[in-house]
Amino acid sequence: METSKDKIVVIGAGIIGLSCAFRLIRSGHRVVLVDANAPGSGCSTGNAGHIATELVFPLASPETIMGAPGMLLSRHATLSVRPAYALRIAPWLLRYAWASRPGVYRRGTAALMSLQASAMDDLKALLRAAGASDHLVANGSLLVVERQQSLRSLSQTQKKLEACGVPSINLDAEEITERAQGLGRNLAGGLYFPKTGHVTDPKRICDIYAEVIAREGGEFIRAHVGEVALCAAGGFHIKTHSNEDGAKTISADRIIVAAGVGSAALLEPLEGKIPLDTERGYALTFPGCSPYFTIPVASYERNIIMSPLDCGLRVTGGVEFGGVDAPPTKARVEALKHHARELAPAPSGVPAEVWMGRRPSLPDYLPAIGESHRHRGLFYAFGHQHLGLTLSAVTATIIAALIEGKPPQVCIQPFRLERFSKKCVRFLAKEARQTIT
Ligand SMILES: Cc1cc2nc3c(=O)[nH]c(=O)nc-3n(C[C@H](O)[C@H](O)[C@H](O)COP(=O)(O)OP(=O)(O)OC[C@H]3O[C@@H](n4cnc5c(N)ncnc54)[C@H](O)[C@@H]3O)c2cc1C
Repeated sequence: METSKDKIVVIGAGIIGLSCAFRLIRSGHRVVLVDANAPGSGCSTGNAGHIATELVFPLASPETIMGAPGMLLSRHATLSVRPAYALRIAPWLLRYAWASRPGVYRRGTAALMSLQASAMDDLKALLRAAGASDHLVANGSLLVVERQQSLRSLSQTQKKLEACGVPSINLDAEEITERAQGLGRNLAGGLYFPKTGHVTDPKRICDIYAEVIAREGGEFIRAHVGEVALCAAGGFHIKTHSNEDGAKTISADRIIVAAGVGSAALLEPLEGKIPLDTERGYALTFPGCSPYFTIPVASYERNIIMSPLDCGLRVTGGVEFGGVDAPPTKARVEALKHHARELAPAPSGVPAEVWMGRRPSLPDYLPAIGESHRHRGLFYAFGHQHLGLTLSAVTATIIAALIEGKPPQVCIQPFRLERFSKKCVRFLAKEARQTIT
């Protein structure tokens, strides 16, 4: 058994675990990263690379609930539930509906805004420290609308965003086409978000962090973590297994669980059940295909985003509730292909590389970031749903502050795991009953 009093073990080497590990190494800590797979090979590999600081509204919202039936029933649906998973996801969906009440949604918006406020600056700083500034393009992004009828709700969205301090510029169809040539449809208009951006290759960012961590003395152990247990003398035992080394136990006083969708299973024995599930999303990458646009273009009606990356054009989208283990669903890939063809016809004829990622999502669409109130030294950072890359550096800054006993830059109360405890749910139910009566 390997022991150490001062090392910090980070479980999970996705963008969240890597950012935390790198941030801590730079503050002089000894870090051990453990992952069953190569760094950055989970959900952080094939995403859109969008630094989506304009997304301050949790997807658990009254509007999303109202729009869900239409999205589920449309012919080329980007929202779907695998029939075999329908019963399993039902409790999560109930919690999601519960978290979409106006009051919770308002509090969630304030919480997301607090993270987004420094997300871009923290990312710039972390990438600079890793020597990766060249991989960030902070030139904004577009949201385009195809139907005239959608312009009214777009304008309402813009007003709501403005009230939250998110700047955007209204563009008519001509201005959109000037900024993003090659879009195949007659566009009605859209918004330009000047404070957003994209990374040129999400996987490369993970690789750079992993390289710098290794160069600066961080250890990487490739092994599956089967269990995190309390150590009688204090601290934690992390029980690992790999084909090369078999079963091993690592001991540490401080650990960070950043294992994406695998986090809930690791924390359950210590923290109880956490309603973490996965929203499976798809990506089509058209290698070597340079789009005419140089910034990400999202579609208001289709719920997809197209990003100009180093490797070519990447089109991502889709929310599929289907669990972790099921293989990609062909119909979802075809739906994405359909939308890609309709919106940016340039890639047709170029074969697409298909990828599916599992977004770690909690029903209130806020991440879980904090230190366990039951077990000192147990930190967690997961559940970043659609925003893991965007919020990676701000999450790392918060975790580093908590580990160093400093006050974090934002109030972390809304991100604590206790919000899912039975006591808390009972309290919220009582509060709701009192509001109704
Ligand atoms: C199609 C799509 C597009 C997206 N686009 C964007 C975007 O443009 N911008 C944005 O900000 N976000 C985007 N996201 C979301 C983003 O990709 C995720 O939020 C983010 O990658 C989550 O990072 P993570 O580190 O928490 O998880 P992961 O990257 O999945 O990493 C978790 C790691 O933990 C390891 N692990 C799990 N369990 C164990 C265990 N028991 N033992 C050992 N290791 C374990 C896994 O092997 C994995 O490497 C997108 C997601 C998808 C699917």
